Amino acid sequence: MDNLRAAGYATADIDTILLTHLHPDHACGINDGGRAVFPNAVVYVEKRDADYWLSPKVTAAAPDDAKAMFRMSQESVAPYAQAGKLRVFNIGDVLFDGMQVVPTPGHTPGHASYLFGSDGSAILIWGDIVHSHAVQFQRPEVSLEFDSDQRQAVQTRKDVFARAVRQKFWVGGAHLPFPGMGHVIAEGNGYRWVPVEYAPVR
Ligand SMILES: [Zn+2]
Repeated sequence: MDNLRAAGYATADIDTILLTHLHPDHACGINDGGRAVFPNAVVYVEKRDADYWLSPKVTAAAPDDAKAMFRMSQESVAPYAQAGKLRVFNIGDVLFDGMQVVPTPGHTPGHASYLFGSDGSAILIWGDIVHSHAVQFQRPEVSLEFDSDQRQAVQTRKDVFARAVRQKFWVGGAHLPFPGMGHVIAEGNGYRWVPVEYAPVR
């Protein structure tokens, strides 16, 4: 929130929140003790993720040590759902002009990435395509215990890397070194992360 304010925005200015998936480390920041941190925002989440993480039935069937994760996901969006501001979308839905939803399932059932483009340049906000930049760019076949479908997650990572190289778009991702933006290039049998050059504004 401090960083948001420093960038010149108030929480009330935010009207749209695009969740890549419902894992707590990607969704819980929008809820503060049961209160919507962004009172004027509509929260978007892909249907397969909502059907999985927000389902009482799936939660009840989950192993005990996984139940807390489901509860946190549900709590994160609860104030928005109660206010009628949770929008569950399907792949193929057009949410906004100039923005395309890119389905990137595997890490979670409905993991989604968001491609913003204008004037021939674009940035893909890809969410959790990579958790270990030191390993997974070089070896995209390495998956993570937290992936709900590891085989699909590996395939998605390979597809997204190939597309990022082909289309040369910027990437913004979680779990990448600060500032989490850069390009993907092909190298050897794998890929390499080329981070944006970053320096403080004088
Ligand atoms: Zn995640």
